[in-house]
Amino acid sequence: MITIALTKGRILKDTLPLLSAAGIEPEEDIASSRKLVFATNQADVRLLVLRGVDVLTYIRHGTADMGVVGKDMLMEDGASQLYELFDLGIARCRLMTAYKKERAQLVKQSKLASQSRIKVATKYVNIAQRYYAEQGVQADIIKLYGGMELAPIMGLADEIVDIVDTGKTLLANGLEPANFIADISSRLVANKASMKVKHAELKHLTDAIAAAVSQQSA
Ligand code: AMP
Repeated sequence: MITIALTKGRILKDTLPLLSAAGIEPEEDIASSRKLVFATNQADVRLLVLRGVDVLTYIRHGTADMGVVGKDMLMEDGASQLYELFDLGIARCRLMTAYKKERAQLVKQSKLASQSRIKVATKYVNIAQRYYAEQGVQADIIKLYGGMELAPIMGLADEIVDIVDTGKTLLANGLEPANFIADISSRLVANKASMKVKHAELKHLTDAIAAAVSQQSA
């Protein structure tokens, strides 16, 4: 049995057509189901639907052989004990810092004291710590699990680090994107032991997925 862990949400929406092109069809409609494990048209392939960070945990423990996860999760959680196989080119977005329009004005006019510590709210604590250290900015990082946009509005933080796609979420909350941190897309990752023990089966699957990716980008 091959177990593939998928990240729910936007990534899942982009992953299913790729899997379909690679010949893997879930037995029921994942989008409208509350189940977390799905049989497929291939008797020896099943799918799990999880949060990105849990996808990595399942793969590290070998409970899932392979999975699809955002590069943001790999940057935050590290890619130790697993193989990052290739870029699927889906769920593209950017990791950015963002702040209120008023702060943007102050930055433009160089009116912010360069020595002062700033407060940054994010779910990407490790990425933010690395990024601000590289910039030579002293930042106190505040961990949030969602709704980062609210933090500057409520005065919890000066800036946020979050994923930006169209920028509409930021705009709707009176924020604007500030500094670019990284381009993000989803990656195919695999458990190291599975790649040895189930080599032939996984090679067959990854070849089919790679072909679907190049077909999609053609
Ligand atoms: P947008 O309003 O299009 O900039 O989307 C921003 C929000 O959607 C962010 O707060 C993210 O949580 C989420 N989002 C956008 N693109 C992605 C993606 N590729 N993967 C995961 N979440 C995303």
